[in-house]
Amino acid sequence: GEMVEFDLVETARIAATWVRRGSKTMAEVRFTGLPVLKVKGRPGHIQQVAMNLVQNAIDALEGRTEGAIEISARVAGDRGVLSVADSGPGVPEDLAQAVFDPFFTTKPVGRGTGLGLSISNKIVEEHGGRLRLCPSGSALGGACFSFDLPLATGES
Ligand code: ADP
Ligand code: MG
Repeated sequence: GEMVEFDLVETARIAATWVRRGSKTMAEVRFTGLPVLKVKGRPGHIQQVAMNLVQNAIDALEGRTEGAIEISARVAGDRGVLSVADSGPGVPEDLAQAVFDPFFTTKPVGRGTGLGLSISNKIVEEHGGRLRLCPSGSALGGACFSFDLPLATGES
């Protein structure tokens, strides 16, 4: 994948549609914040990151009769930031570090490899960013993960 300028919101929409299509979730995915956010990076890799975060959000809502997922795009300084929040049980404080470790999973055997967050963080680090738990928590009361990418510099 080449480093190109692309719309992070569009990439997140594609990711959410794709993951949702493959699941039986009733959860709605809604978008807030900027309608367009031009960043620089490898869109295919970033789509994979967004898919991992949305899949985790859907997994967190499994078995519930209602639930929400909110994807938010904003600018912070010279970075574009995308966050994925859900109304699930959240990440217990004592697991806040461990969830980023390779092969750490709380899902049943065969359901989770425990690689989603660690691979996603590696991808984001290759873009000079970080994947983290949202510093201000989840707007929906569950988990929230966010990552940052360099803003596009071109005129596009
Ligand atoms: P996997 O999804 O295969 O378990 P991940 O690396 O994607 O691996 O996630 C690791 C663990 O982090 C999950 O098993 C779960 O315990 C926790 N986690 C990730 N996302 C969420 C979320 N949205 N809500 C609650 N827990 C989460
Ligand atoms: Mg996962």
